[in-house]
Amino acid sequence: MSRCLADRSIDHVVLERGEVANSWRNERWDSLRLLTPNWQSRLPGHGYEGDDPDGFRTMPETIEFIERYAQVISAPVRTDTTVTSVRSTDEGYVVTTTQGDWRCRTVVIASGACNIASVPPVAAGVPSSITTLTPMDYRNPEQLGQGGVLVVGASASGTQIAAEIHRSGRPVTLALGEHIRVPRVYRGRDIEWWMDAAGVLDEFYSEVDNIDRVRGVPSLQLAGSDDRRTVDLNSLTDMGVKLRGRLAGINGGKAQFSGSLRNLCELADLKMNRLLDRIDEWATENQLDDEVSPPHRFEPTRVEPSPPLGMDLTSGDIRTIVWATGFRPDHSWLDVPVFDRKGLIRHDGGVVEAAGMYLMGIPFLRRRKSSLIDGAADDARDLSAHLASHLAGESARAAPDATASAVG
Ligand SMILES: Cc1cc2nc3c(=O)[nH]c(=O)nc-3n(C[C@H](O)[C@H](O)[C@H](O)COP(=O)(O)OP(=O)(O)OC[C@H]3O[C@@H](n4cnc5c(N)ncnc54)[C@H](O)[C@@H]3O)c2cc1C
Repeated sequence: MSRCLADRSIDHVVLERGEVANSWRNERWDSLRLLTPNWQSRLPGHGYEGDDPDGFRTMPETIEFIERYAQVISAPVRTDTTVTSVRSTDEGYVVTTTQGDWRCRTVVIASGACNIASVPPVAAGVPSSITTLTPMDYRNPEQLGQGGVLVVGASASGTQIAAEIHRSGRPVTLALGEHIRVPRVYRGRDIEWWMDAAGVLDEFYSEVDNIDRVRGVPSLQLAGSDDRRTVDLNSLTDMGVKLRGRLAGINGGKAQFSGSLRNLCELADLKMNRLLDRIDEWATENQLDDEVSPPHRFEPTRVEPSPPLGMDLTSGDIRTIVWATGFRPDHSWLDVPVFDRKGLIRHDGGVVEAAGMYLMGIPFLRRRKSSLIDGAADDARDLSAHLASHLAGESARAAPDATASAVG
C-alpha cells in the first residue's frame, strides 16, 4: 500500500509496533517455510529474481525479502510505534501511538489477520498437568517435554507442527475438523501454479456465494519443503500420527472427539477432486495436456474403521496440547464503530464503513489470494485508487499534518 500511495504522490506514514516484517520475526516457528513458492511473492514492482523460483523461503529469507522491499521503495516506516487508538474527527482521524499522535484524512488498517491465536472454549477443561501452546508460542519440538502431544486442528499450521513433533519422537494425536486438502504437486506442477494460472486465486469477493462463510474457511493443508512433499492426513498416518475427530469437549479430564472424522475427510477429498477437475478442464481448454503429465487422482484419506471417541488426558500419555485452531486479528485499538456482531470490521472489499478508512490483508478481502503476500499488490492498487478518489472528493477540507497513515 505504501508503494501504491507513493506512486500517487499521496503523503503517508507506515506505523509499525515492532520492526519491519515483525510477524515473520516473532510469531512463527523455527522450521517454517513459506508454503507459497518464491515466484509467488510478487509485490508492486518487486518480483523474485533468484535462481530458485520454485523454492520456498525460510523465515530468515522471508524477513530479508520484506526488509529489502521496504528499503527499495523507501517506505516511510516508523518502527517501535504501537497504535493504541484510532478515533474519527470532523477532518478524518486521530491516530494515537506510543510515539505521539497523528492526524490524517485516511487510515489503512494493515495490522494483519493473524495477531491472536484462536483457542476454542473447550480449552478451559484441560487438566493443569498438561502444557498448552499455540502456533504463535511454538518454536520447535525441543521446547516441549517428553511424552505424547495432542495437536488440535489440521490446516497448514496443525499438519506441519504435528509432523515435526512426531518426527522428534513424541507420539502425536491429531484432532481435526473442517480442513482443505490439496496436493503439493499435481501433474508435475505446483498446486499454487495451477491455482494462479487457472484464475482460482483471482476470484473476486463479489463473485462467490456466501462471502462471510468463505472468509472463515481454514488455510490449505500445504507445506513448503525442498523435496516438495505433500503433508496431508495420509502422510501423517504413514508416520504413525493418530487421527481423531473434532475435539468436541473435555469433561472430568476426558477429551471427547466427534464421530464425524470419516465425513470430514470424505468432504475434504471431494472438494480436492473438484479443484483437480477444474484444473484438468482448464488445462485442456488451454492446450496444456501435452506439456504436463496426465490427470490422476490421489488415494482417499484413510480413516480407522472406528476411531476412538474419547481420550483420558489425566493418564499421563498426553503431556502437551497444541491449539492449531486458527488465528484472528486484533483491532482492539480501533475506536470507530465499524464492527459487526462477531467483532469483525464491516467492509466492502476493503472499503470500511467509515469514510476514508481501508482494510488490507485479511482472508478473501477482495480476492481469494488476499490473505497471501501475493494478494497485496492487486488489493493495494484497487484500494489506493479508491483512497485517492476519496481524497479528491474531500479536497475542499483543511489539510491536516499527514494525508494518509497505514497501520502495520
Ligand atoms: C503461520 C503462517 C504462515 C503463513 N504462510 C504464508 C505463506 O507461506 N505465504 C503467504 O503468502 N502468506 C502466508 N501467511 C499469511 C501472511 O501472514 C500474510 O500473507 C502476510 O503476512 C500479510 O501481511 P500483512 O502485512 O497484511 O500482515 P502481517 O504480516 O501480520 O503484518 C502486520 C503488521 O502490523 C503490525 N501491527 C499490528 N498491530 C499494530 C498496532 N496496533 N500498531 C502498530 N503496528 C501494528 C504487526 O507488528 C505486523 O508487523 C502465513 C500466515 C501465518 C500465520
